[in-house]
Amino acid sequence: MSMVSVGVFTSEFEAQAVCNRLEAEDIAARMNRQGRYHGFTGAIAVEVDEADAAKAREILGDADAPVDMDEYVAPGDRKYRHCPACHTANVEMAPLTEGKVWLTMLSFGLAALFMKRDCRCRKCGHAWRG
Ligand SMILES: [Zn+2]
Repeated sequence: MSMVSVGVFTSEFEAQAVCNRLEAEDIAARMNRQGRYHGFTGAIAVEVDEADAAKAREILGDADAPVDMDEYVAPGDRKYRHCPACHTANVEMAPLTEGKVWLTMLSFGLAALFMKRDCRCRKCGHAWRG
């Protein structure tokens, strides 16, 4: 059987939430970290069997629509970034630049812990660096 991607997510957390959503509807979904989307951005594709793809897309609505993180993340959960303006957890981080990716690899990931990232709120559009 062949697997098709029904969405690409920038965090494992989001991809897992989508898998859970699909599995609740009896669709076997898996995360593909090795696919063509992965690369430097760390994007994770969610894949389902081709036969389930139409149903999966229907369940997910627009295949590219992001998961509403507020359904999964408690306000004030420090593990996730929240918008400083409206406090939603629906925050996107800009991908690392190529230079920062190299720095991260050379430091075995340590550098990423100290890097400021450009963030943008999906709900109110507020952008900040943090
Ligand atoms: Zn906001």
